[in-house]
Amino acid sequence: KAGNMQLPSTSRSYIDGRWGDTTPLATKKKLQSWYQLENGDWELVNVLSTSADETVISIPEGKVSRVKGESLLPANPDILDGVDDLMQLSYLNEPSVLYNLQYRYDRDMIYTKAGPVLVAINPFKKVALYGNNFIQAYKDKEIDSPHVYAITDTAMREMIRDEVNQSIIISGESGAGKTETAKIAMQYLAALGGGSGIENEILKTNPILEAFGNAKTSRNNNSSRFGKLIEIQFSETGKISGARIQTCEMIIVLSAFSFKNYYLKRVVQCAKGERSYHSFYQLCAGAPRSLKEKLNLQNADDYEYLRQTNISIDGVDDAEDFRIVMEALDVVHISKENQDNVFAMIAAVLWLGNISFEMIDSENHVKPVEGESLSTVSKLIGCSVEELSLALSTRKMRVGTDTIVQNLTLSQAIETRDALAKSIYACLFDWLVEQINKSLSVGKRRSGRTISILDIYGFESFDRNSFEQFCINYANERLQQHFNRHLFKLEQEEYIQDGIDWAKVDFEDNQDCLNLFEKKPLGLLSLLDEESTFPNGTDLTFAEKLKRHLRSNSCFKGNRGKAFTVSHYAGKVTYDTTSFLEKNRDLLHLDSIQLLSSCSCQLPKIFAASMLNQSEKQVTGPLHKAGGAESQKLSVAMKFKGQLFQLMQRLESTTPHFIRCIKPNNCQSPGKYEQGLVLQQLRCCGVLEVVRISRSGFPTRMTHQKFARRYGFLLLDEVAAQDSLSVSVAILHQFNILPEMYQVGYTKLFFRTGQIGVLEDTRNRT
Ligand code: ATP
Ligand code: MG
Repeated sequence: KAGNMQLPSTSRSYIDGRWGDTTPLATKKKLQSWYQLENGDWELVNVLSTSADETVISIPEGKVSRVKGESLLPANPDILDGVDDLMQLSYLNEPSVLYNLQYRYDRDMIYTKAGPVLVAINPFKKVALYGNNFIQAYKDKEIDSPHVYAITDTAMREMIRDEVNQSIIISGESGAGKTETAKIAMQYLAALGGGSGIENEILKTNPILEAFGNAKTSRNNNSSRFGKLIEIQFSETGKISGARIQTCEMIIVLSAFSFKNYYLKRVVQCAKGERSYHSFYQLCAGAPRSLKEKLNLQNADDYEYLRQTNISIDGVDDAEDFRIVMEALDVVHISKENQDNVFAMIAAVLWLGNISFEMIDSENHVKPVEGESLSTVSKLIGCSVEELSLALSTRKMRVGTDTIVQNLTLSQAIETRDALAKSIYACLFDWLVEQINKSLSVGKRRSGRTISILDIYGFESFDRNSFEQFCINYANERLQQHFNRHLFKLEQEEYIQDGIDWAKVDFEDNQDCLNLFEKKPLGLLSLLDEESTFPNGTDLTFAEKLKRHLRSNSCFKGNRGKAFTVSHYAGKVTYDTTSFLEKNRDLLHLDSIQLLSSCSCQLPKIFAASMLNQSEKQVTGPLHKAGGAESQKLSVAMKFKGQLFQLMQRLESTTPHFIRCIKPNNCQSPGKYEQGLVLQQLRCCGVLEVVRISRSGFPTRMTHQKFARRYGFLLLDEVAAQDSLSVSVAILHQFNILPEMYQVGYTKLFFRTGQIGVLEDTRNRT
């Protein structure tokens, strides 16, 4: 098997962020090389001759060209085609890595290791790699090719062996396959559940979360609009025999990152080619007749919120999906009554969108048109038509000690109506997650070890980047540091701790960029918050403030007007501060909260309470000054930062396993592998860097004792001293392992890639 081959190490260096080989091409006998075409793609060519200033190559179609030697990079020998760990490649230049991944991808081998990281390339089609037979084979170690099952199995074993919690951190662009990958990992863990019934419950959380939290976007027909951390707890770790777990319980589904306003904007407004959350269409298409009547439900295209864009997605049966969700709700023990409450809230949101307004005076003031929409909403949430009408057309204000009522204009009324719809949906999602958590951990002990699976949006850089990208990229910056720390810093520290001579390998540390965001009082987040509380603050004054205070920071650059640029680990991103302050303030409409709290239905009351809970501080915002009865919650950025820190804290105490998902094309179609797109993602997620660091170090390590125990019997001659270090050194000499291939530390032996292979082979033969 090619995967276990051993190769001589070759000299290589890292130049200008590219993988290069320092050996001049002319001195090589190699015949094949990579040649970069005009479109940036690389092609495998035969080198016919080389001289000092030009190289003659033949291109596959038979054409012969004379090119400069610099435009060529060495290719790996055929025998290395498709190795399952990039670390095994002799030449690690970018085209070689790209080719290796493509070679495997073309053969449906979508998983490849990059040292400790698993790279997963989205096949956009069914591949025969999953299911019980595969699960069993990975459990029994019959297969060892890279797979989500394999990494999950490793997590499992390390949890048991080290008694340490584990995490599987999945990242990648939208549409790269994170959520599918998370499900595959859950499938493996669920299969270990061993018939306790919990495995089904674990898996059934997926269709529910996806129905309520996923939507079709331009990049992914089933895009998660929230980040999630799923923690699966294994009870009584002590009783685990092998990889078989008696019972496992799921305790937390964390909807850690939903930016209420932004991600929820689609509730009331969809961009072209996108849809609102699946749940709306599913309910309209799949509700049984009795439910339809109860909720006065119409077809999806009768609702203003939904009819803005295409109702259906090719290949998706919303009615069928609704049945799946209903069944899943049963499985996770959401009561029928609560299910009905949930559907009533979805219907209420839809009907809210159909409420229109009519002019009542010459000053543009409006009131809702009385009719089916208004009355249905009031029935669904449990208030009178008058109360609802008033909440949608007026705003209470305090002037001195008096409260006066102000009428709203059309745009204000629409904004109030839409804000109410978004709040209801946001609260519904959070409440549902809470219910699932409650019902899945009722009465169960919270002991034992856990495996957490993090499915979170990756780095984003668009033509126009706003507050949402700002938050997402900040989160990714933190996660990247976690990744760096774990893979590089810890590695380096281990060498130093064990006293071995290891020239420090530099890696991109992103602490400077994190400081730019987090420093107090002069960091992006602090300055944003400060400006958000100023009554006269605007997006422009915010941008100017940043330029004034952060000019000297090397990761920051002020642009003209309202924009600024941050140098992230994955590249430069220019943010437009338009709406930053408004989105960060995320004002609450107290009138709407009051309305919900006075409703006779259970859920609106719960929602009102949770919204008030969030308004931890009242700030004098511009609307206050204008007299609006609105209050401000903890700013969105601060809340986000808080959640992020909580998340990081939980991850810090685990052994992480990383999966990097890659999207091979932007059209969601199978078989299409775009080199440039893949390369850019490999760079962004640090995969190339990982391979370089891991290879240039000593990735295999073993304590002296273990080494002596494992290979001591292979010694041909008696060793005078019997201590494990002496025995170990004798073994190294006998097997002629070259001094540059290993290092002897205080407690461990460190080896370069592939060095243990000979010993293992001999041991297995003996
Ligand atoms: P987002 O950030 O938008 O949520 P994502 O990274 O979670 O994106 P997924 O929803 O997991 O992306 O994947 C997008 C689509 O790609 C899936 O709906 C599925 O069609 C396909 N896909 C992903 N992984 C696989 C796989 N292992 N096998 C088959 N198809 C897959
Ligand atoms: Mg997803």
